[in-house]
Amino acid sequence: MIKRMAEADVKECLKLVLTSVKEACKRRSPELQELQPTLVAVSKTKPVNHIIAAYEEGQRHFGENYIQELEEKSNNAEILEKCKEIRWHFIGHLQSNKVNKVLSTPNLYLIETVDSQKLANLLNKSWPKFGTPESKLKIMIQVNTSGEEEKNGIAPSEVCNVAKFVLEECPNLHLEGLMTIGKFGRDPNEGPNPDFLCLRQCREDMCKKLGLNWKTVELSMGMSDDFEHAIELGSTNVRVGSKIFGFRAPKTATA
Ligand SMILES: *Cc1c(COP(=O)(O)O)cnc(C)c1O
Repeated sequence: MIKRMAEADVKECLKLVLTSVKEACKRRSPELQELQPTLVAVSKTKPVNHIIAAYEEGQRHFGENYIQELEEKSNNAEILEKCKEIRWHFIGHLQSNKVNKVLSTPNLYLIETVDSQKLANLLNKSWPKFGTPESKLKIMIQVNTSGEEEKNGIAPSEVCNVAKFVLEECPNLHLEGLMTIGKFGRDPNEGPNPDFLCLRQCREDMCKKLGLNWKTVELSMGMSDDFEHAIELGSTNVRVGSKIFGFRAPKTATA
């Protein structure tokens, strides 16, 4: 049996995670000190009352990676009423035929998982139907830093090309940064996580080539097991699920 967390537990866990984020920030090198990481509370498979509990504790950014769940939760009457400033991050694999669905999400803030030029193009063309006039859709480019076949994301060597495409050909998109999931189960005692180093390197190369200031390009990396380590290495967006909402039963759906 999985023990359901109470709303008070969610609040308590969130506080602990926020404290850990703060502590990790202090351990960063001086040039990273001014970058404030965003904590994204990954609420997939978790009930609405847990989202509201975290919101009441001050949490604003939430992440979902199944389209249907995002649709249900973002349109939930109680969430719409009680969580007016909620900011949804989509962090799952986005298929072309689901683009309209994800773009109609109320309070959609950021799509972290743009993993092809084709998808960027489609989002760019579709956004005007959904966004307020002149608004840009925030996106991140997902990079497959571990080179694992089952992981989505573009190859590190392609990041510059796709970023250039977004900057030059997608006026309705704002390139917020780069995102990676990375290899699971890495022992943090083995030294700096190569996926995190790789994403950092991608940003450096991209900024050099395209003349961007690296401080304006976010890095989304780090989950429950390694968000502190990721922050130490310069993550500006950590996606934390189970450390806030408790254990998740594995989901086999491919949504
Ligand atoms: C589920 C998920 C997370 C959070 O995972 P935890 O280990 O529970 O913190 C982060 N990022 C993505 C893309 C996810 O799918």
